[in-house]
Amino acid sequence: MSSAPGASTRVFALLGDPVSHSLSPRFQNAALRAAGLDGVYVALRCADEDVPGLVRGLARAGGGGNVTLPHKETAARAVQRRTGTVEATGACNTFWLEDGEVWGDNTDVEGCAAAVRALLGRSPAGARVLLAGAGGSARAALHALVGAGAERVVVLNRTRARAEALAGRYAGGRTALAVAASAGELAGDSFDLAVNATSLGLRPGDAMPVPLDGGPGVAAGLDLVYAPGGTAWVRAMRERGIPAADGTEMLLRQGAASFRRWWGRDAPLEAMRAALEG
Ligand code: NAP
Repeated sequence: MSSAPGASTRVFALLGDPVSHSLSPRFQNAALRAAGLDGVYVALRCADEDVPGLVRGLARAGGGGNVTLPHKETAARAVQRRTGTVEATGACNTFWLEDGEVWGDNTDVEGCAAAVRALLGRSPAGARVLLAGAGGSARAALHALVGAGAERVVVLNRTRARAEALAGRYAGGRTALAVAASAGELAGDSFDLAVNATSLGLRPGDAMPVPLDGGPGVAAGLDLVYAPGGTAWVRAMRERGIPAADGTEMLLRQGAASFRRWWGRDAPLEAMRAALEG
């Protein structure tokens, strides 16, 4: 925000539960300050039943916001207009008002695609990818990978049925899909990129989402989980000379994409990055 909030300040909110740990208010308010825009971004812990009213009310009052766990599916149903990524993933993480209607997008897809490009230094077109996880963020990651033209994606998830359900959504397209329930099944295989879209790495002592011994070969690793200094998986890969990044870049890029939806202009990415790292 360029000055103190006033009568014309646009209000943006992150809706989730919990939200107290979220870094989004920090870097979104830094973006507003850097761009000199009259807006404010807050985090609201809320119940699922209140999400439709908040989404529509905030947007119609001239603002908008983001949605995080566990409300992304509810938000996808609450908005009036859905982008193709919301239709494909069943999840909405960004909402705003446009031409009198409440729109929803899933900028995790764009955020993941940008983080993959930043890590690899190129698009994952033609790449063989191991995707660990089959929940909401795995859906966004798979949509990004298929959209970018990955050659093959293996979905690795401890609950095989969820991996099959996710891979099945993209069967028959130009990306070859397969599933596995343990990394051991993939020993001897090799991948250009492994993506962690499980929640492993959030807690100290968590198992590696993709073991670096006894599993497949991995040439680069993107963790969607973020931690100061990188997650244990990211640090272990770097120690072996494998390029790896945690979820900070994806978080930043999904936030920058959301900012563009709300303000119709590019986000001040470096100011956001500095706020996130500071
Ligand atoms: P979710 O829908 O709850 O999915 C969780 C996934 O983790 C499922 O595939 C689950 O497997 C797996 N899992 C959980 N505990 C496990 C364990 N002990 N061993 C093996 N697998 C386990 O969550 P989500 O929305 O996809 O989010 C996952 C993580 O991504 C979050 O923790 C968050 O840190 C990160 N994320 C980051 C960003 C970003 O911008 N960087 C954005 C979104 C999410 P089952 O199917 O077998 O239960």
